[in-house]
Amino acid sequence: MTHTTTQLRVNPIACSGHGVCAELLPELITLDEWGYPVIADGGGIPPRLTRTVRRAVTDCPALALRLTRRGNSEVTQMSAPAGTGKLGT
Ligand code: SF4
Repeated sequence: MTHTTTQLRVNPIACSGHGVCAELLPELITLDEWGYPVIADGGGIPPRLTRTVRRAVTDCPALALRLTRRGNSEVTQMSAPAGTGKLGT
């Protein structure tokens, strides 16, 4: 049996510290002293925040946020194709 979870991750190389994500998703993201995001709880996403998390991913101006689906031995990344506002699955 495979157990799959989706996690929110930030690419620290791509992130430019705009802070939009923390404004959209204060329940999961705070900013460090330099304005870069710190994601709570290892990136786990409560079901009630799924929509808001997807919006934060698509609205990040640097496209630095990713949703990662992690199964027992498989990791896939889901990101928003530029300009589409939609996430691939
Ligand atoms: S919105 Fe994007 S670029 Fe800005 S702090 Fe968050 S992850 Fe980084």
